[in-house]
Amino acid sequence: MFFDFKETCREEMNGFEKEVDSLGRVVIPMTIRRALGIESNSKVSVTLQDGTVVMMPAIKKCALCGSKISEEMKFRLCAECVSQVKEYAVQAENSKDL
Ligand SMILES: [Zn+2]
Repeated sequence: MFFDFKETCREEMNGFEKEVDSLGRVVIPMTIRRALGIESNSKVSVTLQDGTVVMMPAIKKCALCGSKISEEMKFRLCAECVSQVKEYAVQAENSKDL
């Protein structure tokens, strides 16, 4: 199969028409993946908004403050909230001793 520049331009202007397979999978066009920085094995967030499927790169957010957290974080908490929780735990522990 060869690359059809004219067809690709037409698709980008009118939207891509993609087949949904028997498992509900759809291939995200490469130009869209590149534009959004969606790499293989990365996660996307899929939601339904007013009858439209909205898909965007998944962003890990802190469960407490909602700020963006890095992929390496073990828990769904940002470093700032983790340190505040630790501080609170230490204070609670110390007040028990009094
Ligand atoms: Zn946080």
